[in-house]
Amino acid sequence: MRRMSIRPWRDIERRKSRQIMVGSVPVGGDAPISVQTMTNTPTEDAKATIDQIRRCEEAGADIVRVSCPTPQATAALKEIVREARVPIVADIHFHYKRALEAADAGAACLRINPGNIGSEERVREVIAAARANGCAIRIGVNAGSLEKDLLEKYGEPCPEALVESALDHIRILEDHGFREYKVAVKASDVFLAVAAYMQLANEVDCPLHLGITEAGGLIGGTVKSAIGMGNLLWAGIGDTIRVSLSAEPEEEVRVGYEILKALGIRNRGVRVVSCPSCARQGFDVIRTVQALEERLQHIKTPMSLSVLGCVVNGPGEARETDIGITGGGNGTHMVYLSGVTDHHVKDAEMIEHIVSLVEAKAAEIEASDAASGGSGQSKPARALPVLDAAE
Ligand code: SF4
Repeated sequence: MRRMSIRPWRDIERRKSRQIMVGSVPVGGDAPISVQTMTNTPTEDAKATIDQIRRCEEAGADIVRVSCPTPQATAALKEIVREARVPIVADIHFHYKRALEAADAGAACLRINPGNIGSEERVREVIAAARANGCAIRIGVNAGSLEKDLLEKYGEPCPEALVESALDHIRILEDHGFREYKVAVKASDVFLAVAAYMQLANEVDCPLHLGITEAGGLIGGTVKSAIGMGNLLWAGIGDTIRVSLSAEPEEEVRVGYEILKALGIRNRGVRVVSCPSCARQGFDVIRTVQALEERLQHIKTPMSLSVLGCVVNGPGEARETDIGITGGGNGTHMVYLSGVTDHHVKDAEMIEHIVSLVEAKAAEIEASDAASGGSGQSKPARALPVLDAAE
């Protein structure tokens, strides 16, 4: 159920999808929008893959996908699944035997397109293996690998072609009475992906996995993903997301969270409000924020921190955040706690001091939540409301 909103201009009405389970993680319905990423270590190297999954878990990944191109990969998958704290999706292309092996190895979900599996008998076997192992299936339509007949029919990848491909794959699962599936219609072109997802959202009630595929490097890909997924999420579409970057998977997770945080959909860790800095700055804002972002990655408790170079906007932003710092003269800066001026700090101690204040605040919020059985919201200036009641 939705909370009464005191800021209706921030409301997002989420599309109603049915819920499926990916291992222990619900996807769709009123479940929190989950954040996924994908490993890039050789899956055959279970240790390296588990280490990378651990880093993704620390960054907040809810679900991690692992490629299974070889029998050695699916053999390693067993150990990977056992060690991972999050559900593992096995990424399969074409080799239906890998799907059977991955389902037996404990994958929570198979990313496979039923239309690419081959004969009817093989399709039946894969669906039976998924069912027997409690595995979901993720259909992944991609503009870069659309079926030949659809390309001929439509002339080029277009929203209608992506949606038709998705519906064809869905039909195969539905014909077998299999309903534990979610669907993606990805494209590297933002317009194409958004239009395809919007059309598909009107046609089906299954959960949708969002992604702007092959989006690019950290900065360019983040911008494209934020525009594409941001538009869809703002329109209430999307139940799980994966940001695709030519960057480490844990960066994808961080970007995914930042997109959700910017829309007030999920909160995790420290939301930093900081100024771009200018000649008025009382300290080096850019280097300070860089250092703080690095030092505060371990904080999972939702809270807010403002870092402003001077009094022009510092006090106003500090009023809206849990902890605030505003640059002053002579290397001496004002610290705000819960929006109120509290004490001064000198340049040299500033970063250490803020880190310890944030850690103490996180511990305080966690203790008060534990005492009240609450939901992670602290009293003062927790600016963004959370939309999902389940969050
Ligand atoms: S808060 Fe102050 S230092 Fe930061 S950009 Fe604004 S005027 Fe410049």
